[in-house]
Amino acid sequence: MLAFPVVRAPGAEAARLDPDARAAALAALASTEFQVLVVGGGVVGTGVALDAVTRGLSVGLVEARDFGAGTSSRSSKLIHGGLRYLEQLNVGLVREALAERSLLLGVIAPHLVRPVPFLFPLTHHVWERAYVGTGVTAYDALGFSLGHTRGLPVHRQLSRRSALRLAPALKRSAITGAVAYWDAQVDDARYVLTLARTAAGYGAELASRVQVRGLLREGERVTGVRAVDLETGRELQIRAQQVVNATGVWTDEIQAMVGGRGMINLRVSKGVHLVVPKDRIHSTTGIIFRTPASVLFIIPWERYWIIGTTDTDWTGSKAEPAASQADIGYLLDQANRVLKTPLTSEDVIGVYAGLRPLLAGESETTSRLSREHVVAHPVPGLVLVAGGKYTTYRLMARDAVDAVVHALDWRAPASCTDRVPLAGAAGFQALWNARHRLALSSGLHVARIEHLLRRYGSLAPELLALVAADPGLGRPVTGADDYLRAEIVYAASHEGARHLDDVLTRRTHIAIETPDRGMSALDEIAGLMARPLGWDADAAAREAGHYRAGVAAELASQEAATDAEAGALRDAVPDIVPVLAAGDGDGTAGAGSVGAGSGAAIGRLGSLPGGRAG
Ligand SMILES: Cc1cc2nc3c(=O)[nH]c(=O)nc-3n(C[C@H](O)[C@H](O)[C@H](O)COP(=O)(O)OP(=O)(O)OC[C@H]3O[C@@H](n4cnc5c(N)ncnc54)[C@H](O)[C@@H]3O)c2cc1C
Repeated sequence: MLAFPVVRAPGAEAARLDPDARAAALAALASTEFQVLVVGGGVVGTGVALDAVTRGLSVGLVEARDFGAGTSSRSSKLIHGGLRYLEQLNVGLVREALAERSLLLGVIAPHLVRPVPFLFPLTHHVWERAYVGTGVTAYDALGFSLGHTRGLPVHRQLSRRSALRLAPALKRSAITGAVAYWDAQVDDARYVLTLARTAAGYGAELASRVQVRGLLREGERVTGVRAVDLETGRELQIRAQQVVNATGVWTDEIQAMVGGRGMINLRVSKGVHLVVPKDRIHSTTGIIFRTPASVLFIIPWERYWIIGTTDTDWTGSKAEPAASQADIGYLLDQANRVLKTPLTSEDVIGVYAGLRPLLAGESETTSRLSREHVVAHPVPGLVLVAGGKYTTYRLMARDAVDAVVHALDWRAPASCTDRVPLAGAAGFQALWNARHRLALSSGLHVARIEHLLRRYGSLAPELLALVAADPGLGRPVTGADDYLRAEIVYAASHEGARHLDDVLTRRTHIAIETPDRGMSALDEIAGLMARPLGWDADAAAREAGHYRAGVAAELASQEAATDAEAGALRDAVPDIVPVLAAGDGDGTAGAGSVGAGSGAAIGRLGSLPGGRAG
């Protein structure tokens, strides 16, 4: 029977994602026929869930690991139009992305997305200034033509002396001047989690650690999925009128379930980032400059810099792409081309690698593959959405749900997510303005209040209530003192964190922000998570032991010379709740073929593109 949209009272408040909520979501997933079931809990999948549920559709979502554990927590964390796409004259793509940047800054997530300054050093005197200046002027003009930019300043042309004043870390000999401009950045993992909580608040049923293993079929039509709750091994059949695949680089595995007909041809490209402490690079602004292959960003990130990225084919494990010594060496070499005081591997306190789901043409190198997206409908009941970039996730979601609505016998309104603030956005500005008062009333330093407001927006008072009830939670975590103990408890009690890695890597970024990768904070964090998750001492010790083994494997992989060696070393310690490989367990993956295609690829921005700028 069809479940009508109002399964629970919908509302703008964030849902509490705790073990009880997961159990309730699993029960609903097993017993309901949804109008839309989303596979994949990255930024695109959670975006699809929010788009669909706010159009009044009944929505379920399953994610094989933690929300955001795939590519969506491993990006450069920029919300940007992409200056380099402008260089390829891809004005439409840039304009669209800048419109999204404005919306995210101003309406949808002003607490999570914030402006970030960049310097583009010039190395040639006249022509380059004119060339880059024209590009950045167009970038600003496109941004301003959209009407609301939340006051992002316009770019400035700088002399060498002014540029060095902003970024004394730059080699004098490496620049002749610079262009300063503004973009935006986001905590990518927290953004996905906030999308998930917002969608759940409106009534979507979401469960992490549930892997889709096959598709339910009636003739050619897809009528749902066969899935496994990886925490318990329990099998589920989830029925849905339309299944939306939003599995990013795993799209091929879902395509294989409908007979391997490759309507979407993806290539997987690895991008590695380094994290170094702020005092290693003396600059008041981010820096972007050209490399032989693409561009390199040095991005301000709290008390750190993020340096990235690489762009190489990857054929190893998709769950844990590994950075090799070659990747790290490449990034240090490139950064040192412009830095006065060279960085060494000793300066690196964190490394992370992610995989880009690129729409593939025939013969492009990965850095030239398309960042555009595509929606396809290979068989009745199944919609595929892939490609794109973080910045434009909302448009991908809108287009996927448009395809769903087209296929459903249901008159749904148009997407309204351009007017739906995420959880924590409403009231954020007022609380920000009152931050000194909040500091006084809570007894926390105003810098702590600002930190909380930037991470939780107007939900920050929920954390202050935890501190009021137990003042010990107002203390910083020992060994990771950027974060309060209350944040760890809240991650487990409200934010769907189920394992140590969820907290150290995605709810916080302790794993890449502390030189020991969070080791000295581990036992305290496990202790804080134990109560909301019901862990006994053995469970907490098992979690800590697994996390330590994972870090050891990661550090070993970063010493390896090649991708193959690095991948093998990293794979030695799989996720604490391992995903099943094709053919494992119930043997459903890859099963369930259908006949030759009746579907059609609906190309966004044209048909499946190739050869666009990366
Ligand atoms: C190095 C790098 C830097 C980037 N920088 C930027 C940037 O600065 N700005 C920008 O706009 N974009 C950036 N991007 C692109 C952006 O990060 C991605 O386009 C985006 O995160 C992809 O999101 P997604 O939801 O499609 O995929 P994912 O986040 O990978 O989500 C897919 C999810 O599906 C789940 N899944 C897979 N199979 C199953 C199954 N069988 N059952 C259930 N769940 C399943 C996975 O576990 C995963 O969580 C970058 C990408 C990379 C790699």
